[in-house]
Amino acid sequence: MSDRSEDTPAQAEFRAAARAFLTNHAEPRSTVDLWQVAGLPHDDEARTYFESGRSWQRKLAKNGWAGLTWPTDFGGGGHPPWSDRIFREESDNYGSNPGFVGATISMLGPTLLAHASEELKVRFLPSLISGETAWCQLFSEPSAGSDLASLATRAVLDGEHWVVDGQKVWNSCAQFADWGFLLARTNPDATKHQGITFLLVDMTSPGIEVRPLIQANGSSHFNEVFLSSVRIPINQVVGEINGGWTPTRTVLANEAAFIGRGGGAPASERLLNLAAQHNSLDDPTVRQRLARIISRERLQNLMGQRVQSAIRGGQHPPFDPALTKVLAAGTKVLTGELAAELAGPAAVAGPQTGNREGIWIQSELLNRFAISIGGGTTEVQKNNLAERSLGLPREPETNRGVSWKDVPRS
Ligand SMILES: Cc1cc2nc3c(=O)[nH]c(=O)nc-3n(C[C@H](O)[C@H](O)[C@H](O)COP(=O)(O)OP(=O)(O)OC[C@H]3O[C@@H](n4cnc5c(N)ncnc54)[C@H](O)[C@@H]3O)c2cc1C
Repeated sequence: MSDRSEDTPAQAEFRAAARAFLTNHAEPRSTVDLWQVAGLPHDDEARTYFESGRSWQRKLAKNGWAGLTWPTDFGGGGHPPWSDRIFREESDNYGSNPGFVGATISMLGPTLLAHASEELKVRFLPSLISGETAWCQLFSEPSAGSDLASLATRAVLDGEHWVVDGQKVWNSCAQFADWGFLLARTNPDATKHQGITFLLVDMTSPGIEVRPLIQANGSSHFNEVFLSSVRIPINQVVGEINGGWTPTRTVLANEAAFIGRGGGAPASERLLNLAAQHNSLDDPTVRQRLARIISRERLQNLMGQRVQSAIRGGQHPPFDPALTKVLAAGTKVLTGELAAELAGPAAVAGPQTGNREGIWIQSELLNRFAISIGGGTTEVQKNNLAERSLGLPREPETNRGVSWKDVPRS
């Protein structure tokens, strides 16, 4: 049944079932607009794009194809670790994907599984997997990005509630999200990593104001989120009170793995199309640059698969997931620059002329540094890799052991 000779009989059967489902329900890749972009300039378009991802996730869940390896008790499929890889290999031939909803499932799902109470798992995992509840990440602050643990948003206990005050920033898709996973300082006397609590917050709670940030191309991928006396029930804590750094690390590792592995049609497909349109396919320097990008994409894909199958099998990844993200961030820069050079003036005329390719190129150019920053900057990831994977000395830190409230901040 399978055309993958390495499949076991069980895998071949699973692959055939996945293919049958996708053939009946997913959008064929050939009908998808090659130049579709994720960051759309108009709010209604962006919402439609976000909701189309969510509705695909709902369809996956309804038909038993979501949360494949997750426990059945929490709405998952209980399938073996290889099931995700096979489903992904088959889905890559189609255009349908869960978009940003898929990103938050990848970040929050393993975090809830590893660190949340049974009560929270039962309450939140099924609706996360099914896309009924869309989530956003409320971590970064104006003075806490790379140094996330210095965050200043406060949560204070008041009877049966946490009362939260503070400001978050760069929160992707917060304007569309139903719930957020939020970091707040609950013990200012402890050192910066020790006094943080990981909270789950209903985005419709009184006191939450989401203000979209408008980017250079008019789109608002991310937002500022202001929290004023927001009340969160006391039990909506993941992990230990003041021990929120542990689940945070799980989110960050899964975020790096998700960004690194990429998804959807590879950018090189569009580059090849552009090179053909602009008669550059025979240019040896263009060919070299294309070959470099294609090789990096293949490597990222293989590395992503190894990391994912280890995570899904409950094992440590064979290498730090940050490595894949650093590679992907570099590829994105190469892609944006080659696209702009191939198209020449068409690269700047996109939105003005309604030219689809131009809109894609402009988006690639504007966003070519986005994944070098989002989910932890390349510089910081390299520092972490140097320390964790290469055993180089730690970065000097002047405030080690000092309580958060005594660390000078602007
Ligand atoms: C597309 C995108 C989506 C995002 N989505 C979200 C989201 O949904 N939720 C959320 O909470 N946040 C989100 N972010 C924010 C992101 O996590 C932060 O932008 C990132 O962690 C960097 O923080 P910063 O912007 O404050 O930069 P800073 O930390 O101020 O860094 C500024 C510069 O200094 C460098 N630098 C800092 N420290 C070091 C060091 N120790 N060694 C070497 N260089 C250093 C950095 O590499 C960078 O170049 C998103 C960002 C982007 C771009």
